[in-house]
Order: sequence, then C-alpha cells, then structure tokens
Amino acid sequence: MGMGMGIQYQINYGQDLGGLITSKIQRHKVLLVTNQVIWEKYSEYINFDDLQVLFTSSMEADKLEAEHQTLRDFDLAIGMGGGMALDIAKYHAWKNNKPLFQIPTAISMDAMFSYPIALRYQGKVRYMGEKFPDQIFCDFDILLNAPKIYNRSGICDLLSCHTALFDWKLSSSLGKNRIMEQELYNAVDSRLKEVIDKVDQIAEVSQSSIRLLMDGFQFVAEENYRTGHCQFEEGSEHFFYYCLEALTQKTFIHGQVINLGILLMSILQDNQVAMIVDVLKRTKVPIYPESMDISYQDIERALYACAGFVEENPYSYSILNHRPVTSLEVNNALEILQKEFDPTFPPNKFPK
Ligand SMILES: [Zn+2]
Repeated sequence: MGMGMGIQYQINYGQDLGGLITSKIQRHKVLLVTNQVIWEKYSEYINFDDLQVLFTSSMEADKLEAEHQTLRDFDLAIGMGGGMALDIAKYHAWKNNKPLFQIPTAISMDAMFSYPIALRYQGKVRYMGEKFPDQIFCDFDILLNAPKIYNRSGICDLLSCHTALFDWKLSSSLGKNRIMEQELYNAVDSRLKEVIDKVDQIAEVSQSSIRLLMDGFQFVAEENYRTGHCQFEEGSEHFFYYCLEALTQKTFIHGQVINLGILLMSILQDNQVAMIVDVLKRTKVPIYPESMDISYQDIERALYACAGFVEENPYSYSILNHRPVTSLEVNNALEILQKEFDPTFPPNKFPK
C-alpha cells in the first residue's frame, strides 16, 4: 500500500488457491480469458457455475472490439495466463465495468498489476483508460509449474529501471516533462540494485524469487499511480520494443524483447554496459534474434526507426530523442549483441 491517495492491491499468496477462488466466484457469471495450453492444464482448477471461456488472440483494438460484441453477459472477468490473457481480461472487464480477478500462471511481466488499458492500433500502443484488478491470486503451485523461461522473464520489468532511470534523469535535467523526485529515484535505484544482486536466484526461480518480483511490480504500480507517471520503470527500452513490435508484427516473450531493449539502450546511453551485459547473461533469458524468431536486420531496422517512432508517439523524453542513432552506434550495438549473446554464430561475423 502506497502513501496517501494510494491504491490497494488485494494479493492472495499461497498454494492450491483454486478452492479460495471458487468460493469467491459463487453465483457469478464468469468470463475466463486464457489460452488453450493453460486451459487444458487447469480446466479443473476452479469450479464454475456459469462460465464462458475466451482464448486470447490479439491486442489490436478493432479485433478486441469485435470480440467484445460476441461475448455473452458476464459479471466477473478472470484473466489466467501470462501477459496477454491478463491484458485482454482487463479490457473486457473495463468495457463492461465489471470486477476483475487476475491469476498469473507465470511472473513473465508486470501485467497482473498493470491498470492502464494499452491497446494496439496497427501495432502502435495507445492508452485508453484504467482498470484495477480487484483480486490477484498468486498460486505458487501453478507458478512453479511454468517453464522457467517465463518466470525468469519477469525480471525485465524491474531491470528496465536501469535504462528508464537514466532517461528520466536525462529528461528532467533538460527540463523536459517530469521533474526528478530524488526520493523516488533513490528508492527505485535501491530496488534495482537488490534485483541485480539477486539475479542468480531469480534465474533459478523459487517461491522467494517470485515474491521478490511481485513485490517490485507492486511498488512500481503504486508509485505509478501516486505520481501519475512511470518514467522510472518505462523508458527507451520499452519504446524500442514497441517500435520493433510495430515493424515486425510479432508477439514476443516480454523478458526477451525488453532485456534486448535494455542492452541496446544501455549502449546508446553509454550506461554501465559491461555491468549490464554480465547481468543480462545471468538472467538466463536468451536475447539473440533467432531465439525470438527475428533477424539482425529486424533489430537494425528498429534501431534506425525508433528515433522517428518516439517522435510520432506520446512517449516521455528519452535517449532516443536526445542522441541520433548513427551507423556507428548500430554496428557497435549489434556487435556486442552477437559477440556476447549469440551462440548460433562465430564471433565477429555479424550476418546481414
Ligand atoms: Zn514491461
């Protein structure tokens, strides 16, 4: 719980929470948003009276709007899955102004806390409104059952503070948008240092490492609400991802693409690159292009495009507005990526 006019998240931590959830949804008409894999695994997890199941497809605004028209009446929406199921459940709950329960099946990003409605318009992110989760259920039986890559991935939404804090400091030193709040800056920085200190434990995935990530996400969400901005956690590393996503039209595991953004933007920022290379390796989240089904050329294109991309979108001021992305920087960044992270190519043969 934050200070003053805060928001209060109801988070239920524990094992075998299906019974608890069942008791809370009695006599409700439930919309459950999930995906096929999760549904096959957990269709018996909760006992529903009146249920419609919706499988995730897209965050594109027109597709979601059309999907919403096909839904039967419901009085409670539940998101069960990684990022997208939680975001889509949030959207439909917001549209009907109904309560929202979130059941993350992996801590792959901060979506369970996130309240802005972020829709895609031809791949571009627009924020439409807000919807707070009424209950979050963090069931360690489910979470520890997920492939490790997903739970490792969640570190990205706290490591992103490394590049975001740089951008925030840069923008406030230039008098662009937000004024630096030193106390918040220091609090975020010390949480970032704790996450970096514990990177090996987070990569191992345990109950305590999941709790560490959850506590970090909660802190970010509460401070975001209190201050009305998220510049301490979302900067150029996320903007790079939005640009890459718009260019490639692909769906990414958040931790892969954000960790890639953290690497590339740290290089542009000249921001403790050796340290961040070491930390990103130890997260055990692969970030070479083939691991996310893209090419070096896609990354190269996104790097050249993202300065223009941030200009035409209402993002906060960052290194991408500040420093031109030249071929020198792009080649340097791609070489570091290839040399340090890519097991599929011999050193210094950056493929075109
Ligand atoms: Zn994120």
